[in-house]
Amino acid sequence: YPDVMDKLVSLCKRRGFIFQSSEIYGGTGSVWDYGPLGVELKKNIKDRWWNAMVRSRDDIEGLDAAILMHPRTWEASGHVAGFVDPLVDCKTCKGRFRADKLEDAKCPQKPSKQPGQHDACALTEARQFNLMFKTHMGALEESASIVYLRPETAQGIFVNFLNVQQSMRQKVPFGIAQIGKAFRNEITPGNFIFRTREFEQMEMQFFVEPGTDMEWFEQWKALRMQWHLDLGLSPERLEFHQHSAGELAHYARAAFDVTFDFGGTLGFQEIEGVHNRGDFDLTQHQTFSSKKLEYFDQVGNKRYVPYVIETSVGADRVTLAALVNAYREEAVEGEAEGRVVLGLNPAIAPIKAAIFPLTKKDGQPEMAQAIMKELRGSFTVDYDESGSIGKRYRRQDEVGTPFCITVDGQSTGDQTVTVRNRDTLAQDRVDASQLKAYLQAKLG
Ligand code: ATP
Repeated sequence: YPDVMDKLVSLCKRRGFIFQSSEIYGGTGSVWDYGPLGVELKKNIKDRWWNAMVRSRDDIEGLDAAILMHPRTWEASGHVAGFVDPLVDCKTCKGRFRADKLEDAKCPQKPSKQPGQHDACALTEARQFNLMFKTHMGALEESASIVYLRPETAQGIFVNFLNVQQSMRQKVPFGIAQIGKAFRNEITPGNFIFRTREFEQMEMQFFVEPGTDMEWFEQWKALRMQWHLDLGLSPERLEFHQHSAGELAHYARAAFDVTFDFGGTLGFQEIEGVHNRGDFDLTQHQTFSSKKLEYFDQVGNKRYVPYVIETSVGADRVTLAALVNAYREEAVEGEAEGRVVLGLNPAIAPIKAAIFPLTKKDGQPEMAQAIMKELRGSFTVDYDESGSIGKRYRRQDEVGTPFCITVDGQSTGDQTVTVRNRDTLAQDRVDASQLKAYLQAKLG
């Protein structure tokens, strides 16, 4: 697949999807802001995940845990000691690189070379760099007041395991899901919103009886792959990647990534991880908090620390995958200029329908606005009366709007309008009073 990243970055800025954070000050490194259309797109993706994981199942409960947690959490989880990357600095050009990823890095002084490959480079010894952002709680800036911005949402779920299980009277197997921000001081962020320092995760931890874990692992693997397919990602761009023994975290019993082909040199990259974490997390928190985190199985009359199957997906990374997957440039019959289309699954498109009066007279704007107001209760809609109708279609194609509704000379008489399909370019004549039902049927 071609590399469309630069084109997407520019489209996303121009059309209000994604802006560089604090751009007027020169930008913040690898932090991005979602604009009016981007926030809708990402929200639609998060809502789909929430509906699939929480609302449509009675064995998964939702949670929204705080970003700041007790610092002992991160000792128990292993992040204080182990959430590190090996880092080297260049004493001459002041570049900073991951020692294990030098082959992917460019020397700032001589971008055609890898750091360390030319004479001017003087690399330091590798040192361990912790990726957690540190800050202070309360008025005193002393070590006792250090807290971390969470580098993953999962720990908020583990520490609430018993709160949720008992308050909701859940029986194992059951899961807890949440969507929230996570922060990592990545040494080599980049590729737009692929790897950033502030991002959003959608994580679910499923608690199961030891011995049933691999069965559940297989089930979650299949369910999560299907979710990405239903989102509209092309089957040929999706693949599982199994972690080899060397890649597995020391506590993990099995791990598969769902990978997506981002095209160009980036190619297949992880968008989601499905992990069998065994009883590592709950056992660690038991030890560090001295609180029992066991489940009592009344039927089997036994007590145990459940195993955890985790599914962890980045909301931003999936948003990027959806954008990359959707971006296409195509020729249009009978027109000199082609068009750019975001062929997004209509269910996640930021705007579902755009309404245009063909001309600015003869009562057409009034009728178009009345339609817009009526549809607004059910869908995200846009109203546009400026420029030629062809230009207006192109503007909507470029942001992925699946339907364009045009009020023309005939409409004010017989109360029908045309509805143009983004992908087929086919136009249906539809009764204005039937528009809501028509769109509902098409959007599912
Ligand atoms: P990578 O090595 O690609 O940075 P990871 O293996 O550290 O990712 P996990 O800790 O398993 O990732 O996190 C689960 C998911 O969270 C990833 O699949 C990804 O979608 C998302 N994610 C992790 N780090 C980032 C980041 N820096 N920016 C955006 N999304 C991220």
